Amino acid sequence: MHAIVKSRPGPGFDFLLDAPDPQVGPADVLVKVAATSLCGVDRHVYDWDQAGQAFVPTLPRIPGHETAGVVIEVGAAVQSISVGDRVALESHLVCGSCMECRTGNAHLCSRQTILGLSRDGAFAQRVAVPASACYPIPDGVSLEEAALFEPAGVAVHALQRAPSLLGQSVLVSGCGPIGLFLIELARIAGASRVIATELSPGRRLLAERRGAITLDPAAVDVPTEVARLTPRRQGVDVAFEASGSPRALGPVLESVRVAGDVVTVGHPGAVSVDISKLINVRYLTLRGVFGRRLWETWETLGELVSTGRLELAGFIDDRIPLDALPSAIAGIGDSGKVLVIPEDRS
Ligand SMILES: [Zn+2]
Ligand SMILES: [Zn+2]
Repeated sequence: MHAIVKSRPGPGFDFLLDAPDPQVGPADVLVKVAATSLCGVDRHVYDWDQAGQAFVPTLPRIPGHETAGVVIEVGAAVQSISVGDRVALESHLVCGSCMECRTGNAHLCSRQTILGLSRDGAFAQRVAVPASACYPIPDGVSLEEAALFEPAGVAVHALQRAPSLLGQSVLVSGCGPIGLFLIELARIAGASRVIATELSPGRRLLAERRGAITLDPAAVDVPTEVARLTPRRQGVDVAFEASGSPRALGPVLESVRVAGDVVTVGHPGAVSVDISKLINVRYLTLRGVFGRRLWETWETLGELVSTGRLELAGFIDDRIPLDALPSAIAGIGDSGKVLVIPEDRS
């Protein structure tokens, strides 16, 4: 089959015409990939920087983890999924039997593998996954929209960890795709105003088009500006940190009102926080998210998209064929989501 392969250490991806077809185990399904969305993580793997090397323990590896397609084969033990089903895939493949899986926190499974990182993914014509990783796509939701459920689900999960946003002022830090999903979801959830911070002018424009008031953190002092925009409470009620920048978290925490809430979505690594000032005295609540809650996040997203409340198609900026990915990936900059579409012939 055609596939993108990270063959060896160092920058780059290879396009192969004759990658071996995935093995389908008794509990697995084989999915004919319709679309796989490109993620910042894929860029790290392509660049083979420190983060990319940390994500991918062994090579060769087929990347791609935000995907949807049609089931074309099922293993002998599979009962829940049938050939012909349209499915989106949960990228965190969980064991189902560890303590976290058994106590309602399967997304934190201690034995999880991740599609396209620690096992072969979906920048390919076909991908094999356990049937338990499949989310049957609701009627009325296209396969392309369904490929965005994995990243959009991270934003939905962040809202699920926050208090009600009805009538609340919200700060979104970072206007990449996850930040844009957060801005849209905050609006749907009834936020009174959404302030967004972003260094890139192009991304600020995308955020403004979705109704956010934007700030350039390189040009203004974010906590001062946020206090000016929220005169009664001198800070937003809820903040979401989606840039993953270690420098962003401090100003985000300083921009939240007393007793407000912060949810971290990006992964800034080890950063120092003044616990006495911010958590004890300012009484902030700080939470984080990793992946999507199984399967509450998917069901919530399915409801929002299938009823037209959340319009995911508008987040798709471009589509490229599989063989164009190695040359195109380095040039993909400040856009929304780019879908990689495998060609039909095998
Ligand atoms: Zn991703
Ligand atoms: Zn587990």
